[in-house]
Amino acid sequence: MAWIWMLSAAGAVLLWAISLGRILSSPAPSCLPPNPHFLPPLRDDRRSRSVLLVVAHPDDESMFFAPTILFLKSKGHSIHILCMSQGNADGLGHIRKEELYCACDTLKIPRNQVKVLDHPKLQDGFHEKWDHGLLAELTMEQVQLWDIGTIVTFDSYGVSGHPNHQDVHHGICQESKKVYICMTASFCMRMDKEILKLGNFGPVDIWLSSLTSFSSSKQPIYTLVNSSPSRSYQAMAAHKSQWVWYRRLFVMFSSYTYMNMLQKV
Ligand SMILES: [Zn+2]
Repeated sequence: MAWIWMLSAAGAVLLWAISLGRILSSPAPSCLPPNPHFLPPLRDDRRSRSVLLVVAHPDDESMFFAPTILFLKSKGHSIHILCMSQGNADGLGHIRKEELYCACDTLKIPRNQVKVLDHPKLQDGFHEKWDHGLLAELTMEQVQLWDIGTIVTFDSYGVSGHPNHQDVHHGICQESKKVYICMTASFCMRMDKEILKLGNFGPVDIWLSSLTSFSSSKQPIYTLVNSSPSRSYQAMAAHKSQWVWYRRLFVMFSSYTYMNMLQKV
């Protein structure tokens, strides 16, 4: 029986390597399927170029959204980040705020396009319930200020299942129609969320996301492929207070290092 397990393990490693090879072989960040209508065409005006990424905590942008950031920047978009809290659950809020700015340096996002809030009603925590109306109001303030054309945020599951992420999704989607959500990976995870707790399939999700794209869905799903996964790793490493061994492993094996699946709300 041992040889069956060895064969299975060798097959899994081979599939992982082939999948990673496919991702790394792309000369630039790409979109699957290629679609010119994914976002409105770039014009001379600021609004068509400006994309707002709304996250709940410092490190969400690097841990979950790096493929989106790198793809949109490669297409000429200007990325802005609104972070709804300092991530102060462990009393490190002031440090984590600075780490977010450092991560944005590695992602080439100007610091004046990054806003980190510290609202008393929006404090980091699994048991903190965030007010959806307040989240919508604060987001729309930044949309006006930065002349934003498109918003990207979590899906209703919150990508990792964190309640703060889920509240950000509901707050924003109740107010705005120009929102793309990052879908919880992968095909199997959405069939049974318990599987999510076991981890995910890293670059192998490139094949599973293709299957998802063909699933019956009202809105098309776009897979944004990160041709430089090391940049996700570098951005996450800037969050020094969070850069513990299990997060290093997570970033290495996470689908969100290699791709994001986006869907318009
Ligand atoms: Zn988070």
